[in-house]
Amino acid sequence: MRDHIAPRVQVFTESVIREMTRLCQQHNGINLAQGFPDFPAPEALKEAACRAVMADVNQYAITWGTPALRDAIAHKARTFNKIPDVDPAKHITVTCGATEAMMAVMLSVITPGDEVVLFEPYYENYGPDAALSEATLRFVPLEGQDFRVNPETLRAAFNSKTRAIIINTPANPCGKVFTREEMQLIADLCQEFDALAITDEIYEYMIYEGEHISMASLPGMADRTVTISGFSKTFAVTGWRLGYAIANETITKAIRKTHDFLTVGAPAPLQEAAITAMGFGQDYYDDLLLKYRSKRDLMFEILTEAGLNPILPQGAYYMMADVSRYGLPDVQFVQRMIETVGVAAVPGTSFYQNKALGAKWVRFAFPKKPETLEAARVRLAKLPEAFATTMV
Ligand code: PLP
Repeated sequence: MRDHIAPRVQVFTESVIREMTRLCQQHNGINLAQGFPDFPAPEALKEAACRAVMADVNQYAITWGTPALRDAIAHKARTFNKIPDVDPAKHITVTCGATEAMMAVMLSVITPGDEVVLFEPYYENYGPDAALSEATLRFVPLEGQDFRVNPETLRAAFNSKTRAIIINTPANPCGKVFTREEMQLIADLCQEFDALAITDEIYEYMIYEGEHISMASLPGMADRTVTISGFSKTFAVTGWRLGYAIANETITKAIRKTHDFLTVGAPAPLQEAAITAMGFGQDYYDDLLLKYRSKRDLMFEILTEAGLNPILPQGAYYMMADVSRYGLPDVQFVQRMIETVGVAAVPGTSFYQNKALGAKWVRFAFPKKPETLEAARVRLAKLPEAFATTMV
């Protein structure tokens, strides 16, 4: 029989993160590869989800999202993100996670051959998203230990074929929080080249340094920005698969159509529960930030002790560490780390198109209980022994 696999699916491979997770399970390791919490979701949320199921909210929700949830998202977009005039009836689509939102957006706005600008290191999903929507990616490396945008390199990536730029702030994997100047520079280029800004703001409440700036809040950008976010990270419910996209009316109509035929809609009872989440007061977000800041500081201390030269992230919940000292490139380093000391992380090359830039990096995720991180400390202390033959 002929192999009937479409070329657009053949150009990307299975997620390296999931592969590391499998290897980690085989070796009974501590999984600091995948970015999900190992602590429970808020009690009030779990109860709200149970109540919704028991109240028979178990059939399809309205395709573009339960009205009360869209109202709550619109309110949050206006007050927290400072996006003007968000109308829940016209501008919001609730999706199965930010993942589906990004896919539905790309499928809705990209004509095959369009160029999309992407900073590297980048969240690995954007590669397959581009392949499936048949976009051509133009990579712009972030520079230095603080992952700065180089204005000349960025400008050189824009041309008449540029349809969009993806901005993930705070960023996975490097923890960069884009500055106001950088956001303004991107906004100016979008306007000059008539391009869209597609933002992924899933870590918007985890900012340790700097401020969260939503592209759609900048003058003239609300109409040409698609803002994506979700519930997975902020409320520790990555398995609920709830996210959303905010866009102008024309683009929203297209996103809703695509979303309808991809998934029909996001889980109805969980959308109901998410309304409860959106009702949490400022103390919830203050407490979230306090806890994540202490996890970040603990992770930094542990990786530094282990000789891994981490970079302190400004936001999100990942930490890049330079593993050069251990004398192996990223993939071999991680494999040996899992097999010998039993800790999993993600090889840096999975976040780079230019593999040479990623080979010294490994990404550790820290949305974990302090005891999980402490257990990793004990194991990582054995790294010098495990790499005795390769260490430089
Ligand atoms: N965007 C970024 C930058 C992420 O790191 C992740 C998860 O790791 C996602 C999106 C996935 O979000 P969701 O669970 O809402 O699909």
